[in-house]
Amino acid sequence: MAENTPEEKTEKSKDFIRNIIDTDLAAGKNEGRVETRFPPEPNGYLHIGHAKSICLNFGIAADYKGVCHLRFDDTNPEKEEQEYVDSIQQDVKWLGFDWGKHLYYASDYYDKCYEYALELINKGLAYVCDLSPDEVREHRGTPTAPGKNSPYRNRSVKENLELFEKMRSGEFPEGKCLLRAKIDMAHPNINMRDPALYRIKKVRHDRTGDKWCIYPMYDYAHPISDALENITHSICTLEFEDHRPLYDWVLDNISIKAHPRQVEFARLNMTYTVLSKRKLLQLVNDGNVSGWDDPRMPTISGLRRRGYTAEAIRNFCDRIGVDKTNSTIDVALLEYFIREDLNKKALRAMAVLRPLKVVIDNYPEGRVEEFDAENNPEDPAAGSRKVLFSRELYIEQEDFKEVPPKGYFRLSPGAEVRLKHAYYITCTGFKKDEKTGEINEVHCQYDPQSRGGGTPDNRKVKGTLHWVSAAHAVDADARLYERLFNSENPDNVPEGGDFKDNLNANSLELLKNCKLEKSLAEAKPGQPYQFLRNAYFCLDRDSSAGKLVFNRTVTLRDSWAKMENKSAKGKDR
Ligand code: ATP
Ligand code: MG
Repeated sequence: MAENTPEEKTEKSKDFIRNIIDTDLAAGKNEGRVETRFPPEPNGYLHIGHAKSICLNFGIAADYKGVCHLRFDDTNPEKEEQEYVDSIQQDVKWLGFDWGKHLYYASDYYDKCYEYALELINKGLAYVCDLSPDEVREHRGTPTAPGKNSPYRNRSVKENLELFEKMRSGEFPEGKCLLRAKIDMAHPNINMRDPALYRIKKVRHDRTGDKWCIYPMYDYAHPISDALENITHSICTLEFEDHRPLYDWVLDNISIKAHPRQVEFARLNMTYTVLSKRKLLQLVNDGNVSGWDDPRMPTISGLRRRGYTAEAIRNFCDRIGVDKTNSTIDVALLEYFIREDLNKKALRAMAVLRPLKVVIDNYPEGRVEEFDAENNPEDPAAGSRKVLFSRELYIEQEDFKEVPPKGYFRLSPGAEVRLKHAYYITCTGFKKDEKTGEINEVHCQYDPQSRGGGTPDNRKVKGTLHWVSAAHAVDADARLYERLFNSENPDNVPEGGDFKDNLNANSLELLKNCKLEKSLAEAKPGQPYQFLRNAYFCLDRDSSAGKLVFNRTVTLRDSWAKMENKSAKGKDR
């Protein structure tokens, strides 16, 4: 990262969308109102890309003292489910936004859409077309060649009204015909070449039941929904830029009062991440992940379960801002904001993920001491807790080496280290498993005068280790997550390949029998923890009273280097 820390914006100027709104307000448009909407299709869970759109739409409403609606764009009855509707509401709320009474569904407007379709037919601006889907495609032309008029284009108003009524009453099978706008088959913009307004779908709708067997197309229902809700600025992603002329055409040709202004911005793309509901659904259905809220998923629910905070996600969205050109954000930037936030909020605790037994031979058997341990050096208000010390402890396997490499300041035969919050210990020996040759026990002597982490002679030690008293330890599983994809751009695959070819086979490592300090038996869901020298963790919902499960949210930056450094300077964390 350059000289600025990521949260410092180099310029404090407003983004181009807020500039547009300022211009509209200055011109006296919309009676000074600003009204936006977030319009998800309930066909999957929301992801971090949606968070960008949510922060933008709700953020603008807040900045201008307007409102932001939550509208379910439920025009595709086959793919939509109540589970998605519920999860979307939960996620928007969790991100910290409130739509108040403004919760809507595009299906609320089906009657209106139908009436406006009749109006278009009556004006000679829509017709029923019997071309097959293949023929429609053939007639459409290409970006460089104009299309051809449908032979059904000149049907009379009367005939169109009759046929549309038959479509509506279920007399035709699916695919038999479409209602199309009558615009211009030679239009340079393909979206304007008599686009479909309605198709037949003999599918029950979650909200309208069996009332309809024709459903409006997104490009038709969307401007109408926006206008009926009196939206002032309809903010969407760049792929809709070419649809804007159609958005305007629909509103210009029906007798509806409002005409919201569509503004497009670049969608969020992120390295090592797939942001498409279709692909995320595939990962869920194919069992590559445990579900939509698998902590490796870039979904809001996955990030939440992983321990990401809403505040960090909002700060990230704020920092990336909005732009007119597509680009890809480094996932490390998101991780930066998570660390920043967790550093402030996480309670510190000691947890040994890969335990190695340490016996302190000169410490009396049966004695137990309590040491005060600060809960968060960044937040004095977080207070302190007691950690228990006894003769047998666990340390991390990697904190002991029979033959220490150069610059290794942890435990090795003859070496002295500090145990965080407790005593100095010196290694006097170790035992190996006879069969495997693995070191399974380390023996030490402690210096009783070093209680609390210092000595009368002010002796320096370079290493500080975390530890857990064996007799008091709480067992837990730890799930260590890595990136779900190996490739910076998972969608970049050779001919015939698939984004799933880039899945990281090692994205989840499960550690069993981790040893945690006793206070973590009371760990609370939703509370972030920093396991000292390890990483940030949170309790997973799979935990039960008998079995704790922790998710690794994100590693500590340069954790080892930083610790060694600080210890070397005699400072402790
Ligand atoms: P996907 O491509 O993941 O399937 P979508 O665009 O089909 O997403 P919608 O439910 O239609 O999903 O999206 C709701 C809103 O969120 C839309 O306004 C859309 O433009 C916006 N949105 C979706 N993906 C992103 C993204 N990656 N970055 C920013 N905004 C996004
Ligand atoms: Mg969509």
